[in-house]
Amino acid sequence: MARQIRFLNTLSRRTETFEPLDDAHVRMYTCGPTVYNFAHIGNLRTFLFEDVLRRTLQAFGYRVTQVMNLTDIDDKTIKGAAAEGVSLREFTDRYVQAFFEDLRTLRVQRAEHYPRATDFIPEMVALVQRLTERGYTYVQDGSTYFRIAAFPSYGKLSGIDLNQVRPGARVDADEYEKEDVRDFVLWKASKDGEPAWDSRLGRGRPGWHLECSAMAMTLLGESFDIHTGAVDNIFPHHENEIAQSEAATGKAFVHTWLHAEHLIVEGQKMAKSLGNFFTLRDLLAQGHNPLAIRYLLISVPYRQKLNFTFDGLHAAQAAIERIENTLRRLAHTPAVTGAGALAAAAIEEFESEFDAGLADDLNTARGLGALHVLLTRINQALDGEGITGAMRERLQAAMAHMDDVMGIVPSGTRVATGDEAEIEALIAERVAARAARAFARADAIRGELAARGIVLEDTPHGTVWRRQR
Ligand SMILES: [Zn+2]
Repeated sequence: MARQIRFLNTLSRRTETFEPLDDAHVRMYTCGPTVYNFAHIGNLRTFLFEDVLRRTLQAFGYRVTQVMNLTDIDDKTIKGAAAEGVSLREFTDRYVQAFFEDLRTLRVQRAEHYPRATDFIPEMVALVQRLTERGYTYVQDGSTYFRIAAFPSYGKLSGIDLNQVRPGARVDADEYEKEDVRDFVLWKASKDGEPAWDSRLGRGRPGWHLECSAMAMTLLGESFDIHTGAVDNIFPHHENEIAQSEAATGKAFVHTWLHAEHLIVEGQKMAKSLGNFFTLRDLLAQGHNPLAIRYLLISVPYRQKLNFTFDGLHAAQAAIERIENTLRRLAHTPAVTGAGALAAAAIEEFESEFDAGLADDLNTARGLGALHVLLTRINQALDGEGITGAMRERLQAAMAHMDDVMGIVPSGTRVATGDEAEIEALIAERVAARAARAFARADAIRGELAARGIVLEDTPHGTVWRRQR
């Protein structure tokens, strides 16, 4: 039995208890990148929100089928390929590869499907034909348009004012402003120098909005559970997806729509002209830890604006180190027998608060708050009467559950790797040296470890160590 979770649904504007259409199987579509450059931290905030969503659903007992499209044909990719004089495929392949590298770096779980728009042209053409049969399209200068006046519920997602619409006004661009509600292009007539496909709609190429509807319904069915994106996708992109899909099928397209708010940098809109525009690669080149970047980008609930600051990034790094050091201390401090200082109630309180936060429209801030309370209690217990073996195992299981969702525990903290065996051996030698009153040797070992950034701490329960950065 999967656990309950509530979402604020953009479509209904209400917080609802989530119920998948098909038992405990969640089908979700996440608008993917337009592969014409490297993803910036604003894009990555949305992809990380979707990753936490996916991981939470799984941790709560749902099976997830996630589709993330790769937009490899639209106004931007065509322009980029033409500027470099390479084929569209060659141009977009580079950024598809970079995108997957970024996801790996940030520990984003793989979706089940990553369809490329150019692999679904026949499905897109078929969808336009269905719309034409039902009277929702017209052709002008070789391009096929969606007639929004024929779809009375147009605007239900974004709440745009349809009184502003001038009948017959059209737009060919993939992206346009909210004030500019017009009939949008489904299939664009071919232009010189642009990639084009021969089809029953004439020679041309798909519009961006059509691509997502066709790929989503092909891979997930005509009605499915969750569709996500950033707030700037609400209009026109998602409004147009609903219109195309529901006009073609006569069925509800998606039940729950979730949108991540914008990211700003040091209080300002991120813009290349302001010099505050960052890709993941930019931050890594400055020496920042990918886990700290992940921590910062998921720490603010997705419906709230996230103000990315370098102070915030340093605080995130400190949080990662606190997790790492506490878990290592926990693992390497000998267990005590008897009562111990940490009670099961403290762990239960953490688990219920952590899950309650996520069940509340993915309130990650509440979940991380509960984590830090627990870390404080663990450290207090280790400083005091110690922790029993049974409690230590319970704690490690609770932290593993937390990490299944958050993905922020440094690798090597759970299981010894790399130089840890060597460090442990030196510490054992130092303990033996002290016992033999060979203090010079003991101090030399401490100095040698300090030079490697390893700090030792002698506690009533033995020597523990942590890395200092
Ligand atoms: Zn999309």
